Amino acid sequence: MATPKLSNDVKAIELWPCGYDALCKVRNCKARATTIARSVDAGDRPIKQYELCAPHTESVAERERGRGREVVIRGITAAVS
Ligand SMILES: [Zn+2]
Repeated sequence: MATPKLSNDVKAIELWPCGYDALCKVRNCKARATTIARSVDAGDRPIKQYELCAPHTESVAERERGRGREVVIRGITAAVS
């Protein structure tokens, strides 16, 4: 499995700046994480979160948008279109 599995209850993905040292959680990726991706349900309750490097943040955001989920950027200045 290349990326963390997401529950069907996920309504949105929030992207937060990663303020601590962590590695990207994508399998075989050794890059330093710059973003925390947090999946939340319809009541904005966090379901799970995982750290991602910049390229994987973009690919996860793209994938989640493709699933019809909202991608919410929280305090990130880096471009995630
Ligand atoms: Zn990565």
